[in-house]
Amino acid sequence: MDGKLLIFSAPSGSGKTTIVKHLLDCFPELEFSVSACSRPPRKGEVNGVDYHFLTVEEFKKRIAGNEFVEWEEVYPNLFYGTLWSEIHRIWNKGNHVVFDVDVKGGLNLKKKFPDCSLAVFVMPPSMEDLKQRLIKRGSEDDESLALRLNKAKEEIGYASQFDVVLINNQVEKAFMEAERIVRDFIKIDQT
Ligand code: 5GP
Repeated sequence: MDGKLLIFSAPSGSGKTTIVKHLLDCFPELEFSVSACSRPPRKGEVNGVDYHFLTVEEFKKRIAGNEFVEWEEVYPNLFYGTLWSEIHRIWNKGNHVVFDVDVKGGLNLKKKFPDCSLAVFVMPPSMEDLKQRLIKRGSEDDESLALRLNKAKEEIGYASQFDVVLINNQVEKAFMEAERIVRDFIKIDQT
């Protein structure tokens, strides 16, 4: 039997990556789908671990070769996508796949795998909170901060299309709620 797919989507800066990392530490049967992207690595990010970092040309070549389950130009000229090879690599090991993808990517994955996926929307408590988190992260300049905040407003409009909305108000509470969601989902037998 193939494994399941756990999709986490949220506006950038909602704390989704922290929640995903926590779940990967808690559940050995979960494995992270390493996306490809065309942005440069941030400090501390490792190629092949956080992302497969590609040039725009390499990324487009892989689109043409049908290597992606889904891909999006998340920000102008910044491409992100899920590789088929990641899903197969993880399923072949008998594990469940965890995705950290943007909102459109998350809904596309859910549509592709309606019977074996759970799509979770991580909701920031407020726009102000989101802004503060992005500033604290220190990874954005003024222009890219404004871009991410504008996009966040649009993305929150899609929350109701997800299977579950997880409000990230207090990180410890969100961790516990996320653990419960995963436990319930992976114990359901699909056979
Ligand atoms: P960041 O640059 O902050 O790492 O990611 C920007 C956005 O791209 C985040 O919302 C992240 O979840 C999303 N993203 C990462 N990988 C993928 C992917 O494979 N597909 C899609 N559609 N979005 C992705």
